[in-house]
Amino acid sequence: MVEAVGSQPVFTPEQITDDQMMFYSAAQEFMEREVIPRSEEIDSMVPGLMPKLLKRAGEAGLLMAEVPEAFGGLDLEKVVVTLISEQTARQGSFGTAFGATTGIGTLPIVFFGTDAQKQRYLLKLATGELLAAYALTEPNSGSDALGAKTQAVLSEDGSEWILNGQKIWITNAGFADIFIVFAKVDGEHFSGFIVESNRPGFSTGEEEKKMGLKGSSTRMLFLDDVHIPKENLLGEIGRGHKIAFNILNLGRLKLGAGSIGAAKPVFDTSVRYANMRHQFKRPIASFGAIQQKIADMALLIFAGEAMAYRVAGAMDQTLHTLDPSDPDWNAKAMAGIEEFAVEASILKVFGSEAIAFVADQGVQIHGGLGFSAEYAVEKVYRDVRVNRIFEGTNEINRMLIPGIILKRTVKGELNLFAAIQAVEAALAGPKVELPEADEAFAVEVALTELAKKTFLMAANVAIQKYMTNLRDQQQLLLTLADLVTSLYVMDSTVARVKQMQAAGKVQEIHRLLASVMCAESYRSVIDTVDALLPSLAKDDKLSQLYVKLEHLKVRPGIDLIKAKRAIAAHFIEREKYSV
Ligand SMILES: Cc1cc2nc3c(=O)[nH]c(=O)nc-3n(C[C@H](O)[C@H](O)[C@H](O)COP(=O)(O)OP(=O)(O)OC[C@H]3O[C@@H](n4cnc5c(N)ncnc54)[C@H](O)[C@@H]3O)c2cc1C
Repeated sequence: MVEAVGSQPVFTPEQITDDQMMFYSAAQEFMEREVIPRSEEIDSMVPGLMPKLLKRAGEAGLLMAEVPEAFGGLDLEKVVVTLISEQTARQGSFGTAFGATTGIGTLPIVFFGTDAQKQRYLLKLATGELLAAYALTEPNSGSDALGAKTQAVLSEDGSEWILNGQKIWITNAGFADIFIVFAKVDGEHFSGFIVESNRPGFSTGEEEKKMGLKGSSTRMLFLDDVHIPKENLLGEIGRGHKIAFNILNLGRLKLGAGSIGAAKPVFDTSVRYANMRHQFKRPIASFGAIQQKIADMALLIFAGEAMAYRVAGAMDQTLHTLDPSDPDWNAKAMAGIEEFAVEASILKVFGSEAIAFVADQGVQIHGGLGFSAEYAVEKVYRDVRVNRIFEGTNEINRMLIPGIILKRTVKGELNLFAAIQAVEAALAGPKVELPEADEAFAVEVALTELAKKTFLMAANVAIQKYMTNLRDQQQLLLTLADLVTSLYVMDSTVARVKQMQAAGKVQEIHRLLASVMCAESYRSVIDTVDALLPSLAKDDKLSQLYVKLEHLKVRPGIDLIKAKRAIAAHFIEREKYSV
C-alpha cells in the first residue's frame, strides 16, 4: 500500500481459478446438504450433532485444507481456505466450531509442533477422527492474555508436565479431544501445551447460555493436577505468546473473510424480500431509502472481498517460496504470516463491523419480520455480535494496527518517515487538482493517494507530539487505525477494479462501486483528520495544519444519490450479490 495504488499487482477474487472454486463448491454443497437444513437443530444443541457434523466435514475433506501433505492434509492455498471460510460462516455456530478445530485448534501443531507431534495428531485432526479446541482465555485474563494464571510444572522425575488452572469461553470444549492450552511454566514462562481431554483431572463446566451462536459449545475448563507427557510441550518454554498471537493472525483473516461470506446470504435474502414486500402499492425495493441500504451493503461486501483475497493471495505468495522439507519451515512460515499482522487486524475489524452493519440493515429491510425468530436475519444479527469480541476485541485489534506500523518503522522495516517527508515536500508545492474521470480510474487513484497523504500528515503530527508515548494515547490510536483501514479499503478496491479493467473484465457496476467507495472513504479520511487536528495542535500550529489540509481537499463531484441508486438497481434486478 506504500506504493501508488495499482502500481503493483495484487491478488483479486477475479483471479481465483476453477480448481480453487471446486473447493468452494464442495464446501457450499456440504453446507447446503448437511448444515443449513439442520440449523435449528444445531442451535437447539441436539446432543452429539455438532461433533457429528464436524466429522462429516472431515469425511468430505474439509478439515484437511491447512494440514501439510506430509501429514495427510491437502496443504491448500490460503485463498482456498478463505473461500471455505466464506461458506462455513453461513451457519454461525457451525462456522465457529469448524474454525476452532481446523484453525486455532490445529494450526498451533502445524506451525509449532515437533515432527512427532505432527505425526501423532495431524492426520487424525485432518480427518475429523480427533476434534480440537484452543484454551487461552481465563477468568482474569482476556485481552491481557499474558496475564494467565494457569500453571505448568515439571514432575519430580521430569517425565510429565502437571497443569493446574481454569480457562473460560472455550469453543468446542464440550466434545473436543485435544486442547491447545496456554500455561505459565513455574508461574512465569508463558507456554503452549497439547492436552488430551481424557486425562484425569481434566473437566469442563456447563454450556454457557449465549446471546448468539447458540449451537456452538462454549464451556469453562478446569485443570486439576492434569498430568501430560513431557513431549506435549508445544514450541519452546516461554515462547507461548508466539503461538497464541501468530495463530490469531490467521484466525483474524478467516474471521474477516467469513464475516464477508456470512454477509452475502443476508444481502441476498434482504434484496429478495425487498422485491417481494409491497407497501404503498409498490415493492419496497423501489424506495430510495431501501435502495440506499442495498447499495451500502454491497459496497462493504465488494471492498471486503477485495481486501480478504488480496491478503490471502499475498500470504500464498510468501508461503510458496518456502520448502516444506526445510527443517526451519515452522519458523519461516510463521514469520511469513506475521508479516501480515496489520492486514489481519484490518480484516478482522472491517469484516466484523461490515457483517454487523449488513445484518442490522437486513433486519431493518425486513421490518417487523426482521425481529422475528422465524426469519434467518434475526439469528445472524445475534450470531455475529461476538465477531467484534473474539479473536482479539476490535479495540485491541485497532490498537495493534498503528502499534505494529510504528514498531516496524522504529525497527527500520518500514520507511514511514521517507513517505512523510515526501508528503511534506508535496504540501509545499501547488495544490493537487483532480484529473478528468477516465477508463483507468484516474479520479479514484488520485483520491486514494490524497487520502494516504492526509493520513501521513496527521500521523507525522501525532508522532512528533507524543513520540514513544503515542502507545498510551488510545483514542488517537483508534482514529489512526480507522484511517489506515480506509486507506486499505480504497487501495484494495481501486487495485481490484484497475486489474479487472486491464483484463477487459470491468463493467459499469465495478466502476460505480469503486467510485462511490473512494468518494466516501476519501471524505471520511478528510473529515476525520479535520476533527482530529485540534487534539494535536493549538494556535498558529493548528492554523498551519488547517492550511495543509486544505491543500489535500478536493471535491470529487460525484452524484452519490444517483450512483447508489444505480448500484442498488444492479442487485435488485439479480436478487443476489453478483458482480
Ligand atoms: C462465544 C465465544 C467464544 C470464545 N471462544 C474462545 C476460545 O475458543 N478460546 C479462547 O481462549 N477464548 C475464547 N473466547 C474468549 C474471547 O477471546 C475473549 O472474550 C476476548 O478475548 C475478550 O476478553 P474478555 O472477555 O476477558 O474481555 P476483556 O479483556 O475484559 O475486555 C472488556 C472490554 O475492555 C476492553 N479492553 C480490554 N483491555 C483493553 C485495553 N488495554 N485498552 C482498551 N480497551 C481494553 C475490550 O476491548 C472490551 O471492550 C470466546 C469468547 C466468546 C464470547
